[in-house]
Amino acid sequence: MDCWHCRRTAVGTCRFCGRAMCENHVQTKPFVLELYPGHTGAKALIVEDALSCGACSPRSTLVSLPELDDV
Ligand SMILES: [Zn+2]
Ligand SMILES: [Zn+2]
Repeated sequence: MDCWHCRRTAVGTCRFCGRAMCENHVQTKPFVLELYPGHTGAKALIVEDALSCGACSPRSTLVSLPELDDV
């Protein structure tokens, strides 16, 4: 697998979109690993340094999923 940016051999893939990155282009971003619904609102388990390609742009605000509201 080659880097999406420069075609060098990749060392990892973006957690958000699946693109591959080499060591020069790998970046990290917080990633929501899991959501826990609760009485005072949902809590999220975050991975602070999930791999990111820097080319995709995950939304910083969460999209609501109405069908999960009544858990
Ligand atoms: Zn690269
Ligand atoms: Zn990406």
